[in-house]
Amino acid sequence: MPTTLFSAPARLWPAYATALPRAFAEAGLSVRLLTEAPDPAAVDYIIYAPGGPLADFRPYTGAKAVLSLWAGVERIVSNPTLTQPLARMVDPALTEGMVEWVTGHVLRTHLGIDAHLAGQDGIWRNHITPPLARERGVTVLGLGELGTACAAMLAHLNFRVTGWSRSPKALPGIRCLSGPDGLAQALARAEILVLLLPNTPETENILNAETLAQMPKGAVILNPGRGSLIDDAALLAALDTGQIAQATLDVFRVEPLPADHPYWGHPKVTVTPHIAAETRPASAARVIAENIRRSEAGEPLLYRVDRRRGY
Ligand code: NDP
Repeated sequence: MPTTLFSAPARLWPAYATALPRAFAEAGLSVRLLTEAPDPAAVDYIIYAPGGPLADFRPYTGAKAVLSLWAGVERIVSNPTLTQPLARMVDPALTEGMVEWVTGHVLRTHLGIDAHLAGQDGIWRNHITPPLARERGVTVLGLGELGTACAAMLAHLNFRVTGWSRSPKALPGIRCLSGPDGLAQALARAEILVLLLPNTPETENILNAETLAQMPKGAVILNPGRGSLIDDAALLAALDTGQIAQATLDVFRVEPLPADHPYWGHPKVTVTPHIAAETRPASAARVIAENIRRSEAGEPLLYRVDRRRGY
């Protein structure tokens, strides 16, 4: 019976205290689930989210895997005490949530909904009709689990979708570009830009003064990826000049976003409080259970993080 330690912020425990035993039973697993480990060397698996009690993985000498509850792993991947295999979260319900957030904000931008919300003043402005989606270029930076699902939904709605990733890809209905050479082309097509890259040293400030200038004038940015992807000062400057017309930001370098941050109250910025997509306990618990089952059966872990790449 594998011993499994749940180490995450205490507020998460009530939901997982129900969801994990249910998922283990569904997977045919008998698991001893603990929230404290008096004998760390006896722990087989660690279910982990940052903000819990665990920061030093060295005493967990027998742990076969650390299973992240979060999709983004930048806060654990750089922990020098972590030597155990690390798997990140790929939760179908989280993906569904991200597709909804991205599609909703792309359509909001595309249809000019904000202008109508602000214009309920008795003036009949019917001289501007939105183009069709087939006439609108949307670029998604990052074609992983989330970027691919969002790009596919946008392509299904007929947007002219371009995607960009580190390695070359071929996806139906999506113009796929990759590597440093593809970035400028991807940005040049981005009337609406969606950032779904992980936080790594390579992606830090990928949107900066130079790359913002490569986008069409008046482009819109949606960032549900990570705050580190954007040079905030460069974005604020680009909003001021009109190079960027609007930004909807869900993630920030410091969260919660400090009350005096210029993004709050900026007329061209919408702040959403890191709610684009949440890990859902019921489906995430099944992902955790499947990985424990696989590991116990000698099968490779799903969603293994490449420590060198950082994602
Ligand atoms: P994946 O690891 O599946 O995909 C990452 C993508 O980014 C891949 O396509 C990868 O390329 C690409 N990439 C990484 N580094 C580079 C680089 N240097 N140059 C070009 N492309 C690069 O991640 P997910 O899709 O699951 O998640 C993406 C991010 O979304 C997470 O890391 C997290 O930060 C964020 N997130 C935000 C949430 C929210 O609520 N706001 C919720 C969940 C996640 P390749 O395919 O070639 O490897």
